[in-house]
Amino acid sequence: MGSREVIDLQGMRVTVAGLGVSGIPAAKVLHARGAHVTVVNDGDDARAREQAAELEALGVTVRLGDGATLPEGTELVVTAPGWKPDKPLFMAARAAGVEIWGDVELAWRLRGPDAAPWLAITGTNGKTTTTQMLASILKAAGLRTAAVGNIGVSVLDAVLGDEQYDVLAVELSSYQLHWAPSVRAHSAAVLNLAPDHLDWHGSMEVYAADKGRVYEGNRVACVYNVADKATEDLVREADVEEGCRAIGFTLGTPGPSQLGVVEGILVDRAFVEDRHKNAQELAEVSDVNPPAPHNVANALAAAALARAFGVPARAVRDGLRDFTPDAHRIAHVADVGGVAYVDDSKATNTHAAEASLAAYESIVWIAGGLAKGATFDELVAKSAKRLRGVVLIGQDRALIREALARHAPEVPVVDLDRTDTGAMLAAVQEASRLAVAGDTVLLAPACASMDMFANYNKRGDAFAEAVRELGS
Ligand code: ADP
Repeated sequence: MGSREVIDLQGMRVTVAGLGVSGIPAAKVLHARGAHVTVVNDGDDARAREQAAELEALGVTVRLGDGATLPEGTELVVTAPGWKPDKPLFMAARAAGVEIWGDVELAWRLRGPDAAPWLAITGTNGKTTTTQMLASILKAAGLRTAAVGNIGVSVLDAVLGDEQYDVLAVELSSYQLHWAPSVRAHSAAVLNLAPDHLDWHGSMEVYAADKGRVYEGNRVACVYNVADKATEDLVREADVEEGCRAIGFTLGTPGPSQLGVVEGILVDRAFVEDRHKNAQELAEVSDVNPPAPHNVANALAAAALARAFGVPARAVRDGLRDFTPDAHRIAHVADVGGVAYVDDSKATNTHAAEASLAAYESIVWIAGGLAKGATFDELVAKSAKRLRGVVLIGQDRALIREALARHAPEVPVVDLDRTDTGAMLAAVQEASRLAVAGDTVLLAPACASMDMFANYNKRGDAFAEAVRELGS
């Protein structure tokens, strides 16, 4: 990679699409590199004006209230990842043969020739957790690293900042991948693929193809989920460097070129000598926090990427032990009267909620919120046998109630018929009435939170607060 040239932006006419978390830093960086920058933005509110004034003071041109028209003479568009590909601005750019980059592509193109390689992670669910696990493992191996991307530090900051890294653990969303055509990771993992954000991508095929871009040009390993064939198909379709290997992870016994679980031990049969005969113990399932099945799968994916980078087995174990998940991801809040109360407010879609429900034997499930076009039949049918009872809250709860009537008619359901913030207290109280000792009361809403709360954090906080009141 030493010979790669960093793009020269001097004098280039660049349009930045969208003020905001990625647009403002992008505009500043482009300007600092000598580009003539125009920022276009749909909104024209007080906040946008304030941000515009700050950029204008630097010499950047800002057009508020018109994110649709491509400024005259544009040679490159840099877009916020969330902007939909069918916007007129992009159509105009494509028609004019102008390249469109997202924030991740910009970071990739501006990396220095000796920049740290990327270990990339995408998937419908588990990205943040797995990326953080990976960073923890890399740190335990003594490497200078950070978890970047959709989390904490942006890729642009990590690439252009003063800090020196040996390797980066990069979380990439499907939007970011869509706008990152030339990113080439050292190794990458797609954790799973379930329908999500289809309104943005247009179809499941396009969504999958955007996720699959993470494998393009991988040098050492393409890590896929053995239980999710769609991820393996993406590996097969990818154009990778000569010698790059397909590595599977599984909760079952691993075959050659796979990582898996044998009698409670995480085992590597990929990065060992003579993988047909040998296996390397990496860690115990109990080293994974929390040791729920989907999270063990996340740990295996992180381990596979770390091993692809040459990390020793001991560091995998130490890194997993050091790792603590972010809040609201299967967080054990308290035990009250022999019942465990678990906050998985981050389970904002049915695929995540399904994984969460699969982690417990007997559950009182608190669910509901904004369904975002989802259907609940499959989730309810798969989880029915684990349900002691269900408490429903939020705007689209009728969809879940109807699925329960179809697939789990014997399970008692309390429909709170409420969308106010205080409903969480009532939900927890109802759940505690349904639960018996040994059960888990699980907040895994399978829905977004914005009908009742500012975000999923606030929803989880309300749950924890209600549990504390119950225990006091
Ligand atoms: P993302 O960054 O992809 O949103 P997170 O690590 O923040 O993922 O986890 C989000 C939610 O997804 C968790 O609260 C959990 O319910 C669920 N989840 C995590 N890992 C997995 C997985 N491997 N498969 C399915 N669901 C998962």
